[in-house]
Amino acid sequence: MPADSVPMPGESIETPTVVAPPEKHVGVGGAMTGAVPWIDKAGVVGGVFRGIRSLFSGMGVTVGYLMRPSTVVTQEYPENRETLKLPDRFRAQLAFNHDDKGYHKCTMCRICEEACPNVSIIITGREKPAVSKKELDSFVWRLDSCTFCNTCVIVCPFGVLRFDGTFESSVYDRRLLSYTLNRYAGPVASVLEKMEDPEARKAAMDPRDPYSGAAVIAALIEKQKATKVSQRAAREAARAARIAAKAAAAAAPATPPEAKDVG
Ligand code: SF4
Ligand code: SF4
Repeated sequence: MPADSVPMPGESIETPTVVAPPEKHVGVGGAMTGAVPWIDKAGVVGGVFRGIRSLFSGMGVTVGYLMRPSTVVTQEYPENRETLKLPDRFRAQLAFNHDDKGYHKCTMCRICEEACPNVSIIITGREKPAVSKKELDSFVWRLDSCTFCNTCVIVCPFGVLRFDGTFESSVYDRRLLSYTLNRYAGPVASVLEKMEDPEARKAAMDPRDPYSGAAVIAALIEKQKATKVSQRAAREAARAARIAAKAAAAAAPATPPEAKDVG
């Protein structure tokens, strides 16, 4: 009887046959889904064969590299450091572009510092510039927080920054990952070039240690703490002065109204 027809009185109704779902094949991998593989013998045997096939396929890759050693990517590393060729655009360490005299062009405009999304650049100026109005003291780059996005390199209007391929930067102390990129504190190349006396040029420049970044950051933190302490002290002194003034006003005797002349 068609499924959509209505049975007439006296007509028998057929019971629909329930078809059992096909038996599910469970292999060794079935154990992962909660099935019990050892009950299904065929699954175990199939799983063993699949395992052997996978083993030989992996061994094929190993033997392939054994036969063609030039295709091994990590071949001879780290012994081949001298001949290792990295792509030109490989970004490992941020570096300053110093010219052949060792001068730089950083004007301390701070564009890179503001553009860095991770506060990985910290620039400090010389408190007493030797020649010009503003002179770079330390340009600190924190490798430990840098994401190598290259933004600082792109935004620098004077082409001071670049990434180089010095990728072996492992250290035991994280503080050593804060580098000072400028080789000297002092004026930019164009100012130094104008100074004819080499001794005067030398006097205007202070050498900087590449690993002094942590000390620069620590000094800045101390400075900020000292500023906060002095600001808090000033606020408290002002508050105490206000309280004392109020107290003095409350303690002062009320001025009597001027006696009126009685005629
Ligand atoms: S590469 Fe990106 S994260 Fe690293 S210092 Fe430059 S701007 Fe900051
Ligand atoms: S590196 Fe370039 S962007 Fe950064 S402060 Fe120096 S001149 Fe400005």
